[in-house]
Amino acid sequence: MTATISNVLVAALCIGIGMNLWFLAEYLLHRFAMHHLHGRGIMSREHLEHHVHSSWSFDVTHLMSWTGVAVVGGLLWFPVGWAVAGTAVGILLAIGWALGYAFYEFHHARCHLAPPRGRYGRWVRRHHFQHHFGAPMSNHGVSIPVWDVVFGTHRRVERIRVPRRLALPWMLDADGELRPEFTTDYELVGRDVLDERQAGIDRARAFASVAPTD
Ligand SMILES: [Zn+2]
Ligand SMILES: [Zn+2]
Repeated sequence: MTATISNVLVAALCIGIGMNLWFLAEYLLHRFAMHHLHGRGIMSREHLEHHVHSSWSFDVTHLMSWTGVAVVGGLLWFPVGWAVAGTAVGILLAIGWALGYAFYEFHHARCHLAPPRGRYGRWVRRHHFQHHFGAPMSNHGVSIPVWDVVFGTHRRVERIRVPRRLALPWMLDADGELRPEFTTDYELVGRDVLDERQAGIDRARAFASVAPTD
């Protein structure tokens, strides 16, 4: 019985370590391979396009990301875990890594597509939309704030200023105004105009990793 409990605890620890390896990678990739490269390479380009529109929809690049994450789990973390403590630890580390990625992917998509539910849902949206609309060189960890705190890139503001043209659909009522339940966390700024000139400015600023103008 004691051996079973300790096995479960070790398994949970290995999965937790694997998830946190992903959360560290999430921070480093987002900061250095996406924002610092200013559009050089497909990963940076795709991510900065995401900043141009602040929308989320499934496309083929997600399949490439999922494959890349699975390959890293299988070819890097499994052998590391196996070398340190055997096959089971290698498998659990790789599973934890994949679960961390799934957690990130799910919550990032939900941030853009659906209103918050619960304390984490509210926090992760505020954290991520401060990154989108306030300071793109901050809050690089989407899922958890730990690595931003460690590396000094964590930013928190009382109210996030959201350019009207980039507002998330779930924020708005039928008249295009901010829903009253979100006025503590967000305010809409600027005009809801997306002409060619504004689209060019939005793209240039996203690829420079600076916040969009009002
Ligand atoms: Zn986003
Ligand atoms: Zn970003």
